[in-house]
Amino acid sequence: MTLALMMERMYEKATRPQGTTLVELTKTPVETLKGIGPTRSKGFNALGIETLYDLITYYPRRYIDRTRQSPITGSAIDQEIVVLGTVSEVTARRLKGGRVLVEAKLFDGQSRCKLVFFNQAWRQRQLANVKEVAVFGKLQRFRSDFQMTNPIVDTVGDRTGIIVPVYPMSEKAQVSTWDIHRALKVLFEETVPKLDDPLPQKVVKEFGLVERDTAYRSVHFADSIDHVVAARKRLIFDELFRLQLTLVARKARYIRDSRGIVHDVNPFVGENQREESLVSAFLSSLSFSLTKAQMRVVGEIAVDMAKEIPMHRLVQGDVGSGKTLVALLSMLFAVQSGRQAALLAPTEVLAEQHYKSLSRYLDEFVTRDLSIYSLFQGAERSINVGLLTGSLGVKRKQVAEQIRVGEIDIAVGTHALLSEGVSFRSLGLVVIDEQHRFGVDQRGVLRARERQGEGLDPDTLVMTATPIPRTAAMTVYGDLDVSVVDELPPGRTPIKTRWLSGEAENAAYEHLLEAVRDGGQGYVVCPLVEGSEKVVAKSAVEEFERLKTGPLSSLRLGLMHGQMSSDEKDKVMGAFRHHELDVLVATTVIEVGVDVPNATIMIIEDADRFGIAQLHQLRGRVGRGKKASYCYLLAKADREQAEERLKALERSSDGFYLAEKDLELRGEGTIFGTKQRGNNDLKLASLVRDREVVPESRRVAERIIAEDPTLSFSPELKEEIRELFKDEDIRYLFLG
Ligand code: ADP
Ligand code: MG
Repeated sequence: MTLALMMERMYEKATRPQGTTLVELTKTPVETLKGIGPTRSKGFNALGIETLYDLITYYPRRYIDRTRQSPITGSAIDQEIVVLGTVSEVTARRLKGGRVLVEAKLFDGQSRCKLVFFNQAWRQRQLANVKEVAVFGKLQRFRSDFQMTNPIVDTVGDRTGIIVPVYPMSEKAQVSTWDIHRALKVLFEETVPKLDDPLPQKVVKEFGLVERDTAYRSVHFADSIDHVVAARKRLIFDELFRLQLTLVARKARYIRDSRGIVHDVNPFVGENQREESLVSAFLSSLSFSLTKAQMRVVGEIAVDMAKEIPMHRLVQGDVGSGKTLVALLSMLFAVQSGRQAALLAPTEVLAEQHYKSLSRYLDEFVTRDLSIYSLFQGAERSINVGLLTGSLGVKRKQVAEQIRVGEIDIAVGTHALLSEGVSFRSLGLVVIDEQHRFGVDQRGVLRARERQGEGLDPDTLVMTATPIPRTAAMTVYGDLDVSVVDELPPGRTPIKTRWLSGEAENAAYEHLLEAVRDGGQGYVVCPLVEGSEKVVAKSAVEEFERLKTGPLSSLRLGLMHGQMSSDEKDKVMGAFRHHELDVLVATTVIEVGVDVPNATIMIIEDADRFGIAQLHQLRGRVGRGKKASYCYLLAKADREQAEERLKALERSSDGFYLAEKDLELRGEGTIFGTKQRGNNDLKLASLVRDREVVPESRRVAERIIAEDPTLSFSPELKEEIRELFKDEDIRYLFLG
């Protein structure tokens, strides 16, 4: 913090008209507003409006623009138009077959138009109580009459103005859209003469923003759509900026407060730096060399791990890009520094698979190269990988003990591993495998750090198999550094993906039969069913029976699902790997870890029920050998968006492109879990529509935190973040 900056902030404060802060509004109940008594305030509460802050952030769903209205007579037939007028003669009757028909007359001062609603019985109630309405719909001509069928109707009430906001309503709330509007009018005219603006003036100017006070006023009381646009721009900026500020501050805080471990990442060890380090020795033992991308990412990790600042890094990479190996190398950096590593997976099945693939890499290695034992100060032993899951039973205690005394170098378990009272002799690195869950459980990471006995924070590496669009990554993982494994190991042939439906689906089974005749193998992924693991397993068994007695009766089929014991699964996998089975029928348990290059065909049943990310992940099980591979998506096309999803998969095998597409199709719901959704205050901002604002707001946040890490010179901003984010982790942020 320079003196100049301090002066600037003080000057700004002195010259800025002080007003009411958002924080003050969060502490003022709506019933304090004039005209809102106990009954009305209950109605507001039912809409989630408890405080004045809730009220001003109860944003219009859309606006009626009176300048865009059209007269009924003179408008083109079959065009969408907006008509403002009065309704009368509302009637309802039941049609044959039970459908309800509501009809009404709309009069725009000159001509009449009939409004017709099918199966919207509630319209009768809605229209009976209002006069002034704005109607959006397609103008039709029915004999000599004008008509609109199922138009959108907004009730205008007695509101004046050119731009009339329409608020989201619920039937239960007993509050009308103009009750909201009226309350806001009282708020802005009588209670809040001016809203404070904590954003530095420089930033407001730099991005061409309007003042906060102006923004909140015009989002509710606009003179033109341009004003609404400007208001929204400012409010969206604020939302994203607050989020970025918390993320950047969090990062600054842990850099300041935590003491990490300086790992030894030297490639050579020993007196004259002649001997290879553990990692170097392991690399030389591999039958292939790292891809450029893997090398770059491992390099980035090594630099982080050698620093005293704890690493917080995210590794993104497409399926099959070799992340597991990257994780293993990172864990070996910890091991060669005399510490332990933990690998956490989201499910037990995944933990088991990780355990197996790590063991496979290390088993081969140890038998080849014994010299590295010198690392363990003469104690000759191999690198021990341990699996710790809930289903381990009595053995669990034993494994936990081995972890405690340090006999196990690499512990693999579920995300719960660290919270279940397992202590490490010396934990150096935590690798968290997120698979396709977006959003790191920050608490988990924090807990992981608390586990360190010596008061040192282990390094943290988060891996995700779902590439995340840049802006989304900046939002969800904004406090992590990001590395991308953007290259596949050589020798992969692209997977041809085809979507088939109806009769054409048989072609997929025929192709599989043919491939098997030519010595190949394949997978059939069972339909996704909702329910417990048991239900899933049952439907998998049924599908297996259907295929065995039906289209694939001539082949050797194996079945794998999550309810089978590890031994059973091992047996089936082993048989498939050794080509004693032609086809593996499986639930999504095959998503990860399964790696059989001879398998070149994958058939995914009811593919429309899976998300893009999961389909992409699943199909990554083929295309691992030299032969051309195929993925067939079997699906009817009658689900919303399913068609676009399936077509995207046919078109592209680029995980990043598909992730963008997924975000576009499904919106941010895919990114924030429900928990995170509630904790962030993104009410207007969309990571899709406003994607260019994310990096902008991030830059501003970085600038501000660099100058003033604890925001001690921007107390309003600091208060605002502390109040508006309900997340405990974030609330702690600025306490120090
Ligand atoms: P991911 O975890 O990113 O999906 P994996 O780590 O499972 O990918 O790697 C997929 C396959 O590629 C594995 O069989 C692995 O052994 C192999 N592999 C990883 N890195 C390389 C490389 N540099 N060259 C050749 N094969 C590799
Ligand atoms: Mg893997």
